[in-house]
Amino acid sequence: MSSPSTFASPEHTGHAPAPIKRDYREPGPLVIEIENVTKLYKMGEEIVHALLGVSIRVHRNEYLAVMGPSGSGKSTLMNMLGCLDTPTSGKYHFTGKDVSGMSDDELADIRNREIGFVFQTFNLLPRSSSLQNVELPLVYAGLPPAQRREKAIQTLRDVGLGERMSHKPNELSGGQRQRVAIARALVNNPSIILADEPTGNLDSKTGEEIMQLLEVLYEKGNTIIVVTHEEDIARHARRIVRLRDGLIESDTRQH
Ligand code: ADP
Ligand code: MG
Repeated sequence: MSSPSTFASPEHTGHAPAPIKRDYREPGPLVIEIENVTKLYKMGEEIVHALLGVSIRVHRNEYLAVMGPSGSGKSTLMNMLGCLDTPTSGKYHFTGKDVSGMSDDELADIRNREIGFVFQTFNLLPRSSSLQNVELPLVYAGLPPAQRREKAIQTLRDVGLGERMSHKPNELSGGQRQRVAIARALVNNPSIILADEPTGNLDSKTGEEIMQLLEVLYEKGNTIIVVTHEEDIARHARRIVRLRDGLIESDTRQH
């Protein structure tokens, strides 16, 4: 983010061309590649077609919103992208690895190392402090306690909660709880942050503050996918994928 890209070769340094003004970013490496993914749920005799053949590619440092009406398949797609579930058919590569046929243990390993989740309901451990909640992914990753603590403290500072390390969730506001959850999602340096309706339980001012924080994380180089049904939330993203009845209706860039 800091160094502007330049095409000047050494012999041209004496009369360097004016910098090219870019209103788009060079795509980074591919993080997600899904092709023709379907998901069927069996409900007794009935089969629900939640996804009917969806293809998406997401590169590092993209900021994507997934939109669509209730029941269109947003959460199903999110679960798939987050390696919480596998497709019924189709291809899913995550950072180049084929995850479509992985075992539950292998999927859990990818999730722990590569994916940061943010949920509408925060999903924090109620009896644990902010610091303990943020340290948890590092416990699973097997990091020694001193390093764990140091990383968790730094990440909580990064989300503006340096003064709330020992507070438990019920001693925090909704916005602060979501910041703890975002710190927990970030602490492992994941390849991608997946947020399913991250502002759904917040008032609009607090929700906007959370979206500003995601904006900062994006500017720092993180890759972010936000699921939302609110246009005000989606307008923060640089790309919007709209689902309808288990299919992609549109996939457009903005800004
Ligand atoms: P959205 O998040 O866009 O509201 P979902 O992905 O939750 O949509 O659901 C898509 C469709 O799949 C809906 O018809 C829903 O009822 C169905 N569905 C989702 N999860 C399950 C499940 N675990 N079992 C059966 N049907 C499901
Ligand atoms: Mg949903």
